[in-house]
Amino acid sequence: MTISTNDYSRLGSATRAFIERSHGHFIDGQWLAAGSSLAVIDPANGQAFSAIAAGGAGEIDAAVRAAHHAFHHGSWSTLAPLAREALLIGLAERVERDAERLAELESLDNGMPLDFARINVFGAAGVLRYMAGWPSRICGETPEVRMPFPGSQFFGYTRREAVGVVGAIVPWNVPLMMAIWKLAPALAAGCTVVLKPAEDASLSALALAELVAQAGIPPGVVNIVTGLGREAGEALVKHPLVAKISFTGSTATGKRVNQLATETLKKVTLELGGKSPSLVFADANRAGAITGAANAIFTNSGQICVAGSRLYVERSCFEEVAEGVARHADNLHLGAGLDPASQLGPLINARQRDLVQGYIDRALASGATALTRRSQPEGDGYFVAPTVLVDVAQGDPLVQEEIFGPVLAVLPFDDQEEAIALANDSRYGLAACIWSESLSRVHQILPRLKCGKVSVNTAGFPYPALPEGGTRQSGFGRDLGREGLEGYLETKTVLIQAS
Ligand code: NAD
Repeated sequence: MTISTNDYSRLGSATRAFIERSHGHFIDGQWLAAGSSLAVIDPANGQAFSAIAAGGAGEIDAAVRAAHHAFHHGSWSTLAPLAREALLIGLAERVERDAERLAELESLDNGMPLDFARINVFGAAGVLRYMAGWPSRICGETPEVRMPFPGSQFFGYTRREAVGVVGAIVPWNVPLMMAIWKLAPALAAGCTVVLKPAEDASLSALALAELVAQAGIPPGVVNIVTGLGREAGEALVKHPLVAKISFTGSTATGKRVNQLATETLKKVTLELGGKSPSLVFADANRAGAITGAANAIFTNSGQICVAGSRLYVERSCFEEVAEGVARHADNLHLGAGLDPASQLGPLINARQRDLVQGYIDRALASGATALTRRSQPEGDGYFVAPTVLVDVAQGDPLVQEEIFGPVLAVLPFDDQEEAIALANDSRYGLAACIWSESLSRVHQILPRLKCGKVSVNTAGFPYPALPEGGTRQSGFGRDLGREGLEGYLETKTVLIQAS
């Protein structure tokens, strides 16, 4: 199977100019030239098309100091909440204005189909708009304080205060969206930020830095340092002036980040990996369940933290659903992100392609059956054909480990209890989908699923007002919603003797 490559002549002139530019770090409102660089690779053909700066401890230190100054001594800490709201709205408007350029950059850098990139850019702007509504609504509590001493009068209340400098570390799978999930609530809370985007997809964050400056957000409030996780990422986690680390990425890296952050007792939010189950009951709308289960795993080529990578189907409709999802997968158009026909792009890099292919090969060698019929693509891009596998066991690595690719394991169950037990038999606890027309069944299952999010009769999508995050080895803390904002605030108690 031969696959399309990106036609760069399709790019807008602003995108072309951006990728040809040399990129530095955005620190204290200025661009700091790159000392050394990392190639930016187009995952659709394996060729370098741009370069980003490879920052390390020095650049991180400069960025953290700028953020620290802006928080403690700059105009940010004293800015009125309504002014913070206006700046966030201004940033959202600029993201929407430049949506096409941001989507093109995202598609080139990550490989995702351009239409999906457009949805993500507008989704990210929506998160900025939602979080812009919070600054003037942040408030504490005023409990009545009465002590049993005659004549004593006390007044007590709580204040909600920004935690300080936030170190935000994000992955490459939906890069702009992930960056804004951190930036928007942190800024709404009144924090300042040093963002370390993923080395495999940093361009949209750098384009965002330009919009931050245009929106009038003061220097030092948002700083962006690109570079490798082991160098720039670890330096950020270890920095003593950083008050909170908000991390999204793999469970393995999250554990390392948590250990490092503990040394200085930083607050930590971890949004980590998943192995999310979809449960299809015989009473489901079958056509809806088949399309939904396919979307749950194949969107963004399976590179979504909440990807529904385990599909459990009631035995009486197992064949129909498993075959249906496989036919859906076989009909998906695999191609480069800028190809208008493309529904599924390449994986992010060669390592990820080989890792995903390795899972498929080992499962087939141990007796799994592929229901999908497509051969693996040829060429230099990092493509993996969507693959649906049956005849796998619950304990297999294919069913237990996060693969982060377009690979679905389908297993049967006999009754509701078994479905719940299989769904919960995982070290992860990020998300789950239930497909059933029975309201009572859905309500029986919902509270028993050990995960942070359950979607019913939909593959689910993030919504700014609804928190996202996991339990168990999928991490702790939440992005989005009121809880997402709360992660960037702490409480100060005030007690006043009035007499
Ligand atoms: P990753 O853990 O390899 O990298 C994530 C980020 O951490 C990158 O910016 C990287 O440079 C940085 N990093 C790497 N090593 C570091 C270290 N030692 N110290 C500090 N920073 C370091 O993850 P990835 O491969 O970029 O992303 C895929 C993973 O992200 C998947 O596991 C996916 O499930 C997860 N994810 C989770 C959510 C969620 O909300 N739970 C959302 C999206 C992605």
